[in-house]
Amino acid sequence: MIPALMPTYNRADLAFERGEGAWLYTTDGRRFLDFAAGIATCSVGHANPHLVKTIAEQAAKVMHVSNLFRVPQAERLAARLVEATFADSVFFCNSGAEANEGMVKAVRRAQAKNGHPERMRIICFDGAFHGRTLGMLSATGNPTYLDGFGERAPGFDHVPLNNMNALRNAVTAETAGVMLEPVQGESGIKPADKRFLQELRTMCDEFGLYLAFDEVQTGVGRTGKLFAHEWAGVEPDIMSAAKGLGGGFPIGAILAREEIAKHLTPGTHGTTFGGNPLACAAANAVLDIILAPGFLDQVQKRAAFLDGLLDGLIADHPDVFSERRGLGLLIGLRCVPKVGDVMCAAQQQGLLTVSAGDNVLRLVPPLTITEQDCREAADRLRKAAEAIRAATLETAP
Ligand code: PLP
Repeated sequence: MIPALMPTYNRADLAFERGEGAWLYTTDGRRFLDFAAGIATCSVGHANPHLVKTIAEQAAKVMHVSNLFRVPQAERLAARLVEATFADSVFFCNSGAEANEGMVKAVRRAQAKNGHPERMRIICFDGAFHGRTLGMLSATGNPTYLDGFGERAPGFDHVPLNNMNALRNAVTAETAGVMLEPVQGESGIKPADKRFLQELRTMCDEFGLYLAFDEVQTGVGRTGKLFAHEWAGVEPDIMSAAKGLGGGFPIGAILAREEIAKHLTPGTHGTTFGGNPLACAAANAVLDIILAPGFLDQVQKRAAFLDGLLDGLIADHPDVFSERRGLGLLIGLRCVPKVGDVMCAAQQQGLLTVSAGDNVLRLVPPLTITEQDCREAADRLRKAAEAIRAATLETAP
């Protein structure tokens, strides 16, 4: 019989009762080091006192009023994001996929209102992941995810990542913009080359195309900069954010230059829940922490420390791990055995991780992890690798 909770996920048989920092505790008292962080979402750790207090206080005052009224918490959050980025204006919604949908709408509408209604196509990249709505499934382009859901939404073309020739060849008179993750997450933690991003920016300017970054996973400090594109020194025209922005509270955002944002006039786009007082209070609390002086430097330092430990692990266990890649605390370890087996072995050692494509184990801990958390994680991965080796020797003929 089908479970009451629709079976859209293969869930581990673990139910957590509470968390603290980078640790999660089950009802039966077991504790797990959480390097999954709600899939790169619990950016400031579990039960972060500042976030908890802010949410509790806001919930006790007013949670939701709709966008028919001013929302001071949203105004403040938008102003802070504008201040910290390339953007002139921000739209709030509830998830990454919803932010990407709105981003594509904004790009198309700006082209149309600038006299180019024929420019409706968006160039995306092989291996992309932009979410599960009908539109974003088509932007993602992965046939497995599209199976059984009817015709693809029109208007999305795909080219290989980091290939300027292929990209230039794909531009037509109908192209409106280019959308990509600065580091592809779901397909295996694959960074776009810095030079590719710089040439992409030049190409977009040359052809009058809008450059749209999906920073749903890479944004809000995950890579050690507030947004990952800062590493390449390349600014987009529009960008999506979600995941880490609310620290576990659902919120998404579209950040855009005025040239694009000014066309999203009343009635052109909307959401009931998006940008409500509670979600924006939560995101403001997250920004209090992430924008505090020295916080992002600390993330970079922690990431470098963890990288060193992981490189040692790979050197000692080449039969289990073949490569480390990523940026900041968005880390991929390519596995030799099936990534699912490595993930299970890590879980048995009390370490939670996420799998990604290309047989990659994804490590996306809270940005607030300590050096001791990093040592514990490396130690647990080492024990997992030893357990895999022992099991392999046992089953060898
Ligand atoms: N874009 C990227 C890069 C993502 O990693 C994800 C989720 O993993 C999404 C979009 C979709 O976000 P959501 O699941 O919040 O709709």
